[in-house]
Amino acid sequence: MDTHFTYLRPNVSVHQSEIFHTNTGILKTPVGCVLVDPAFTQADFERIAAFLGSDSVLAGFSTHAHYDHLFWSPLFGDETPRYCSEGTLDYVTLHHQEILDELIALEDEPINLNHRYFSDHLSYLSSLSSDLHYLYGSSVVVVDIPGHLYGQSGFLFPEFRTLFAADTLSNIEPPSIEGSWQSLIAYLESLATLKELISQVEWIVPGHGDPMDSSEAKSRLDQDRRYLEALRDLRIDDFGNGLEAQAKIFLLQTGETRVANKDAWLIHLGNLQAAYNWLSTS
Ligand SMILES: [Zn+2]
Repeated sequence: MDTHFTYLRPNVSVHQSEIFHTNTGILKTPVGCVLVDPAFTQADFERIAAFLGSDSVLAGFSTHAHYDHLFWSPLFGDETPRYCSEGTLDYVTLHHQEILDELIALEDEPINLNHRYFSDHLSYLSSLSSDLHYLYGSSVVVVDIPGHLYGQSGFLFPEFRTLFAADTLSNIEPPSIEGSWQSLIAYLESLATLKELISQVEWIVPGHGDPMDSSEAKSRLDQDRRYLEALRDLRIDDFGNGLEAQAKIFLLQTGETRVANKDAWLIHLGNLQAAYNWLSTS
């Protein structure tokens, strides 16, 4: 069995990329498949296409405007509808070149990037309001959960009893805030929103890391909240021994365990740098 795939329900599978452990949701409807955060590397695309077999792709959804959640491949159809929240579409429109530049900066990575195709793909995105929608014979609720990035949304598919929670509730990295005090407060509010949602579904799929049931989601939500509240409560004096020293002390004081690899450490350091910036300018 291919270990890149996890089977949550007969009609819900998740593909996990080797890079960043980015998740792609694959929902099977009677008339075709829907992809959520459609993967990242050429190897991912090919594995997912092989998994789909003769099933057609009806639509793609992107939870937020970071490139690892926005990719698309001709293997899923050039003109397949692709959806995101209104905020994400605004963000993509405003930061189109910046998103492409981030991809170009990754050229040394073992990723087969087709920049021109990706650039064209962004213009195929269309937005859904934060509401309940009926598409392709099933329903989807679009829910704003900002904090990690402007416009980020979760997608709750009631018939599939599954919530895609974007870049929250990970078991392999701490929360990553957009960089401002306001984004930290927005993230805490998003956790309150997520708390309501996770009790309505059987499975929750984070952007990165392992899918979880409601009980595990509650415990990760508490971890996320503890981390963000500790970040909120930092004082400028805490940085007396420098950023890295405080980043290590922070982990000890909060008991945060999800900073076990380089990517997670860089996220954590970025959060501490953001806190230092708002404390030193306030
Ligand atoms: Zn992200």
